[in-house]
Amino acid sequence: MNEQLLQFLEDTFATSELNRLPEKYGGGRIFASPLIGVASGNDPIFLEFKEVVGPEHLTPLEMWNACGQEELPAEQLCIVSIVFPYVKKIRDESMNIIQLPHVTLPAEIYSIGRNYANEFKAYILKRCIKFFQEKGFMAAAGMLSEAFTIIVKGTFYSTWSERHAAFATGLGTFSLHEGFITEVGCNVRLASVITNAPLELTLRKYSDPYSNCLYFTKGTCKTCIEKCPANAITENGHDKTKCYNYGQKIARKMKIRLGSLPKPHSRRVNGKLRPPSYPVGCAFCQFGVPCMDKNPTLNE
Ligand code: SF4
Ligand code: SF4
Repeated sequence: MNEQLLQFLEDTFATSELNRLPEKYGGGRIFASPLIGVASGNDPIFLEFKEVVGPEHLTPLEMWNACGQEELPAEQLCIVSIVFPYVKKIRDESMNIIQLPHVTLPAEIYSIGRNYANEFKAYILKRCIKFFQEKGFMAAAGMLSEAFTIIVKGTFYSTWSERHAAFATGLGTFSLHEGFITEVGCNVRLASVITNAPLELTLRKYSDPYSNCLYFTKGTCKTCIEKCPANAITENGHDKTKCYNYGQKIARKMKIRLGSLPKPHSRRVNGKLRPPSYPVGCAFCQFGVPCMDKNPTLNE
């Protein structure tokens, strides 16, 4: 069924109007063809995430139950992680940053692509759930559930980390800039579905959770440190607060610049639904870096 699912996703990515830039930016696709990875619901790595991410991070079974699904043993569940790679046009044009007197802004085309990704990801997850249901199986998506919330507790994290789900399924590894480096690079978005459909598990070939990042494997690169205008990345890692604050600054400026084009997006924080905002991303650390569109450890 893995091949059927991938074909279904490729077709949906190719035909969905939600995967389209506005005409002003060429009207082309936002995301190229997806990648998928599959992990078992009883993979012990999901218990480790409670220590690595935070105690509120849910296992697949806990998320399944929180989504109101029929009770099943964890070993009957699969987690399908989906990689949404930005198209080359967005990656190429996103090198052209906008330098204003007091702030550096990302290219408009990226801001739109990042903003539209939220609606497209939700659409893809709903279509995946239907895909499995039509084949007689059950499915749910953590990201669409009320159990999905950002936890603010000194630092912040979520109850379902798409990067960790992607790592569990073998799609890539973490990195100095705290993105996720897949075989098609770090300039991607991620989403996942939990199902009891009998999918084939994919191999997690990385024992080191940072093995796709040049800094962690060879002590080289650090290009993302130079690219970040907020000084949010150092050799000690990524400062989420500095990154978030800079992202908010960009969002305020971009909302004015882009007019009515950005779409609203609502998030839960500490379990409460926040008023809609217009996230547009930042991601200077993902453009013009060796890990932008590939696993750089395979090419050096
Ligand atoms: S730019 Fe270099 S150091 Fe930074 S995450 Fe990518 S590979 Fe690692
Ligand atoms: S997203 Fe922006 S602020 Fe955050 S680390 Fe990357 S470049 Fe820096």
